Amino acid sequence: MDFNLTKEQTMIRKMVRDFAEEVIRPRTIEIDTEAKFPLDIFEQMGELGLLGIPFPEEYGGSGGDTLSYAIAVEEIGRVCGSTGLSYAAAVSLGASPIYYFGTEEQKKEFLTPLASGEALGAFGLTEPNAGSDAGGTKTTAVLDGEDFVINGEKCFITNASFAKTLIVTAVTGKNEKGKNIISAIIVPTDAEGVTITSNYDKMGVRGSDTAEIVLDNVRVPKANLLGDEKKGFSQFLYTLDGGRISIAALGLGIAQASLEKALQYAKERKQFGKSISNFQAIQFKLADIAMEVELARNMVYKSAWLKDNDKPFTKESAYAKLFATETAFRAANQAIQIHGGYGYMREYEVERYLRDAKLLEIGEGTSEIQRLVIARQLGC
Ligand SMILES: Cc1cc2nc3c(=O)[nH]c(=O)nc-3n(C[C@H](O)[C@H](O)[C@H](O)COP(=O)(O)OP(=O)(O)OC[C@H]3O[C@@H](n4cnc5c(N)ncnc54)[C@H](O)[C@@H]3O)c2cc1C
Repeated sequence: MDFNLTKEQTMIRKMVRDFAEEVIRPRTIEIDTEAKFPLDIFEQMGELGLLGIPFPEEYGGSGGDTLSYAIAVEEIGRVCGSTGLSYAAAVSLGASPIYYFGTEEQKKEFLTPLASGEALGAFGLTEPNAGSDAGGTKTTAVLDGEDFVINGEKCFITNASFAKTLIVTAVTGKNEKGKNIISAIIVPTDAEGVTITSNYDKMGVRGSDTAEIVLDNVRVPKANLLGDEKKGFSQFLYTLDGGRISIAALGLGIAQASLEKALQYAKERKQFGKSISNFQAIQFKLADIAMEVELARNMVYKSAWLKDNDKPFTKESAYAKLFATETAFRAANQAIQIHGGYGYMREYEVERYLRDAKLLEIGEGTSEIQRLVIARQLGC
């Protein structure tokens, strides 16, 4: 086994860390308090090639691998959860399905602007009455001549207000057993009948755009169908397996940040005449966080490696997502505890880590759904 990163992966970590420290770090508190999506930061990330890391150069990408991309998400998440979430959603949900399942024409037309960072993409699966149970999708797409006519509503969609394209899931018919066939269709956000509103007042990841989408008789060419019409459901399960690696990486970044802040504060803060890092109760908290961060990192990198090596990764990406995101929440919670009353104040940032980390236990499959996925993989 080789636990060393390649030269390219090491370079990407350094490049993204430098960018996150220099460009994102000074803005993180403002991004959270003003709940403002940092579009200009995304433009710079696009110029650096970050939005195209796992895509080939012929489609505007940087030709990197999943592990490099996971490292980039980790490094951005270490500084800003909001930016990290929008980044992970743009690449894993907005662009990747086109790369996995798109035709050559779709890749050229729709993936290239996303991978090169000229535009952002979003993925609309969740509906008001279809969350964990994505099979309960009510949005419909009916063929009318050479077009699909789409009607329905999507909620909680990351990046939609700033996206050029949406990938929406919709019922396109029934199979021989009478069950709904769910397909994925590429919808340009400027198509007539698409209304996107972003009025959610969120607990965390406040600078990440989250929007509602109403699709009212939206016409898109039949050619915008993504992949196999009948395999839309298994396609988005594969998409989510990949997306989970990036949400896990984001959790890892927040957990790492919690460790760094807690350790630094524990060394500086003096009570009873000595640094609180001398107290065993504090040391044990730090030891537990450090151990869990490292275990999470191993699982995140392993799941990325499996994907890069074309090996099954459904179970491992669920392990990584579940463990890394719950680690992020525990680490942020303990980081606040180590900061005492100061940790409860916004200025010290660890309370933001907790609010941001909470979303990661919900989005792209809740912790309960990850346990279900794992149990199914075990043969239950
Ligand atoms: C900030 C944010 C960004 C998001 N971005 C996107 C996006 O870009 N695209 C997108 O499509 N969606 C997105 N989502 C939606 C997200 O994926 C869903 O919220 C999530 O999948 C849960 O669905 P739900 O909210 O309907 O909860 P529900 O499915 O109603 O779940 C409620 C509770 O019941 C539990 N539960 C449900 N079913 C089971 C079961 N079978 N066994 C045990 N427990 C169960 C859940 O774990 C949860 O605890 C986003 C959500 C948020 C908050």
